Order: sequence, then structure tokens, then C-alpha cells
Amino acid sequence: MQTLSRIIKLTVSGNKTLLISTYIATFISGIALLLQPYLIGLVIDQVVESLNRGESVHVNQILQSTSLIFITGLIRGIAVYCQSYLSEKLAQKLAYTMRNKFYDHVQHMDFKFHDEFHTGNLMSRAITDVEAMRMFVIGAMIRGPYFILLFSVVSIILLYNDLLLGIIAMSFMPVIGIMSSYTRLKLSSIWKIVQEQLAHLSVILQENLTGMKVVKSFNAQQHEVKKFDLESFYISKSMIRATKIQTRNSSALEFLYILSTGLVVVIGAYKIIEGDLTAGQLAQFVFYLGVLAIPVRWIGMLVNNIARTVSAGTRLFDVLDKKSEVQELKSPIILKKPQGEITFKNVTFGYTETKQAIKNISFKIEPGETVAFLGSPGSGKSTIAQLIPRFYEIKEGQIQIDGLDIKSLSLKSLRNNIGIVRQSPTLFPVSISENIAYQDIDSNQSEIEKAAKIAQIHNYIKTLPNAYQTIVNEDGSNLSGGQKQRIMIARTILHNPAILLLDDSTSSVDATTEENIINAMKKVMENRTSIIITHRLNTIKNADRLIIFHEGEIAEEGTHNKLIKSNGLYKEIYNLQMIADEKNKDIIESLQ
Ligand code: ADP
Ligand code: MG
Repeated sequence: MQTLSRIIKLTVSGNKTLLISTYIATFISGIALLLQPYLIGLVIDQVVESLNRGESVHVNQILQSTSLIFITGLIRGIAVYCQSYLSEKLAQKLAYTMRNKFYDHVQHMDFKFHDEFHTGNLMSRAITDVEAMRMFVIGAMIRGPYFILLFSVVSIILLYNDLLLGIIAMSFMPVIGIMSSYTRLKLSSIWKIVQEQLAHLSVILQENLTGMKVVKSFNAQQHEVKKFDLESFYISKSMIRATKIQTRNSSALEFLYILSTGLVVVIGAYKIIEGDLTAGQLAQFVFYLGVLAIPVRWIGMLVNNIARTVSAGTRLFDVLDKKSEVQELKSPIILKKPQGEITFKNVTFGYTETKQAIKNISFKIEPGETVAFLGSPGSGKSTIAQLIPRFYEIKEGQIQIDGLDIKSLSLKSLRNNIGIVRQSPTLFPVSISENIAYQDIDSNQSEIEKAAKIAQIHNYIKTLPNAYQTIVNEDGSNLSGGQKQRIMIARTILHNPAILLLDDSTSSVDATTEENIINAMKKVMENRTSIIITHRLNTIKNADRLIIFHEGEIAEEGTHNKLIKSNGLYKEIYNLQMIADEKNKDIIESLQ
């Protein structure tokens, strides 16, 4: 109920005039609808009475009486047009607000939120659930009061016109209402299953199409076709079942309607003979019966509509009510051009309550210093890199930039001064040029190329038929992992941030290219604070300092030479990698 009242409030707020106009149009169309059976009955009685009196009926006389029917018809047509247009407008306004609210909200959420809600899940909320809301406005909010009023008025008219006929006609209505509600609910559960089956089918399709080369090379076509066939068969089966229920229901409803009309006509005819009813009154009765069936059938739709809206609304508000843990102060400090000093003071952080990813970490990186992070996978290196731009909120300890707690800074200015290149690069399906200039859309071509040259990707881009204008495929498949990483590096170089975080950013390029990139970036790193996370020792030997992590804690810290001498964890890692490198060299030599 709370969900529904929130949706209603959202629809009403700021749209009062639109809502009232919609109701007025609906009301007018309802009155026109109610007038028609009455007028038709009048015309019939007029004709029958004239004939009974032995008078001849003049065409003009009929035309005069029927013109009122045409006029109400015209009014109804216009009112229905206005009602449909206005209610759709109202519904679209709500959908538009909800979509934007949702998108805006998701944009401003922290990473913890995105860990919890997966892309597909968020997409279905933004599209399907918003659509359910639109349907609610049209199907329940506007039509609800209208149909309830229509039902009440028609019931009164029927009972008032003839109590016996009224009771006979009305006695069918609960049956029709219950039947159509039951069918709708049953159908809705089948549609849910079909939706799940369709989602499953599309996963199979996607897996199969993207992995087509693998499927073919393993000769697995037969198996794949069978898998698809089975899922496709289930969908057809469910659809046929749904159609069966639907048609059975509509046939039964049709039968009930005809049965009630038939009964009314038989008893009505008898009453006409008895002189208790006129032919026009009976005609009115039959027409009103037709009008009554509209709101009664709608009850089924309403039940379904409300059930769907409550679940969709709950899912949407679930997201909208989630607050980002990362919150800005009311008047945050704008970080202009920082020196780039980074300080961690006893920082402890865990993605979940139960497990800490980093424990009591303290270090200080001087402005302009290049520090390399090293440690086994899962030792907390990336976590630290993600905490500096405040992607996650820490609850213990403090992180400072130039001595300022990052919690006191504006998020935009903080992130604007940090360039982060991750192991898994994210490119957008636009041109390479636009991808490089993603954060700096005003930069010119020569600046873009300069950045690409430093990132060692310029020469490759030049070989592409459309060079910098080449559009990156949606899944990035027209570039290798290493090329994508280098484009990301170019993006960061162009952005020219005071702090540079390279998180395994060269993991997908070969050792020589990595060395080339790092050498070229030496100049770039000269005047800025840089943290390089990598597992390749050759590339970090030249760092000013190394910090070695182990299970979320700092194990060792110092220059390469100092750490080699101290015979600790670093020495161990170093020796292991040297042995591995020697082995590789032997293998390569033996192949030559
Ligand atoms: P590293 O970069 O050194 O390989 P991470 O900082 O990525 O290590 O991970 C540190 C710990 O935090 C690991 O135990 C990892 O499983 C966990 N972790 C990392 N990212 C997440 C996340 N988004 N949600 C939950 N746990 C995470
Ligand atoms: Mg990592």
C-alpha cells in the first residue's frame, strides 16, 4: 500500500492540472456513454408509440431524435481522445521522472552499491519496472475511479429501471469479475515464467553466438542446437498454455454475457407483453448491460495491474532508497591543483562486515614520488587504489591528500585530480579519439595524438583504416586487451591529473611494451605522485619506493636495494621471478 501511495504522490506532484483535466475528460466521456442507451431507448419508444397510434413516422422526426445520439457520440469521441491523450501524457511524465531519477541516483552511488546490484538487474528495473508504473497510471489511477463510478451509476440505473431485471443482470457480475481476476492472475504467473524462459533463451543465444568459433571448433553444434531447441520448445508450450487459458476465459465470459442478455430479453419481452415495460426500456436495459460489462471485466486487469505495480514499485524504490555511503559535506573544499601528497592513517576497510581487505594501513607518499605496490593477489593493493578517489567509504582511519581528509573534499574535484587506469579497461562504443578525450572533450587532435604516442598506441591506431576515427566495438572486440589498456593510459595522460594510479594497467601487454610504456611515462610521472601496481619487477625497479603487501597489511617498505638486502618477502618474490625469467629465456633460446 505504501508503494502505491508513493507512486500516486509522485504522479500527482506537479501535475495537478493535468490530472484534473484528465479526470474531467474521463467524466465527460462517461456521461456521453451513459446518455446513449437512454437516447436510443427514447427513439425506439417514440417510433413504437407512433406506430401503435397508427400514425406514420416521418423521417424528419426520426432524424431529429437521433441527432442527439450523434451529438453525444461526437462529444464522447472527443472526450475519449482527450482522455487517452492526457492520461498517456500523465503516465509518460511519471515514467520520464522515474527513469531520470533512477539513472541519476545510480550515477551517484558508491561502488558498494554496484557490487550489490548487477547491470542486468538494474537495467530491468529502469525499463520494465518503470513501464509497469506507466501502466498503473493509465490502468488504475485514471480508469479506477472512472470505472467504479460507471459501475455504481449503471447498477443504480438498472435496478431503478426494473428491479427484477436488474437483479438478474447483476447476479452475473460477481461471477464475471471473479473469473476474469482469476484468469488474469493465472496468466500473469505464466507470463512471469515465459519472461524467465525468454531470458534464459537469450543467454543461450548470446553465449552461443559470441562463442560460435569455439562451438564450431569443438564440433558442438549438435549439442548447442539441442539445448536451444529444448528451451524454445518450453517457451512455445507456455505460450500455448497462456493462449488456452485466455481464450477459454474470454469464451466463457462471452457466453455468460449472452446468457444474461438472453435472460433479460426473455423476461423483458414477457414484461412488454404484460405492459410493464416498453420496447425502448428493454433496449435501454440491454445496452446498459453492455456498459456494465466494461468495468466488471476491468477488475481482472486491475488486480493484475496492482500486483505488478506493487512488485515493480518495490524494486524501484528499493534502489532509490539506497543511500550512497560516500556523502559530500554540505560545503565541501574544492581541491584545485594539489601537490599530490597521499597519506593513509591507520586505515582499515572491508567490503563486507565480516572480512577485512586491508588492516590498519599507514603510509605517506610525498608529492611527485613514484611508489610501486607489490604483493600476492588479494593482498589489498587494488582496494587501496579504489579508496583514494573515495569509491568506497572507510569507517576506520583517515586518508588525506595534501593533508586534507578526503571526506572534506568535493567528490568531483577529488576525482578530477586522480587518474586511475585499471586492469580491465572500459572503452565506450565511440571513436578512439573520443575514448581518449573522454574526460577532456575540448582537447584537440594533436593533444590526443601526443598522449597516444606516450602510451605507445599511436603507431597502431595509424594502421587502422579509419585511424583515430575507428569506432570501438560494443564489446571492444576490435582491440586486444593490451591495446585497450594503452588507450586508457592515453586517456589518463591527456587528462593530466596530479595523482596517477596504475592498477595492473599493463598486465595485458608484453614485457617489452610494458617497459616502453613505463619508460615513456617516466617523463609523465616526473611531476606527479604515482602509484604503480604491477607484478612485473623489471618495471618497478626504478620506482622511488616499493611497498610490499601481504594479506591486507604492509609487510615491507623501502627501495629495491634496501629490500634486497633485508632478505624479506620482496627478496623471495624477486628471486622467484628471476628464476622464472631465466627459465623463459632458456626456453626461448632453445626454440631459436
Ligand atoms: P589485490 O589488488 O592485491 O589483488 P584486492 O584489493 O583486489 O587485492 O582484494 C583484497 C581483498 O578484497 C580480497 O580478499 C578480495 O577478494 C576482496 N575484494 C576485492 N574487491 C571486492 C569487492 N568488490 N567485493 C568484495 N570483496 C572484494
Ligand atoms: Mg588488484
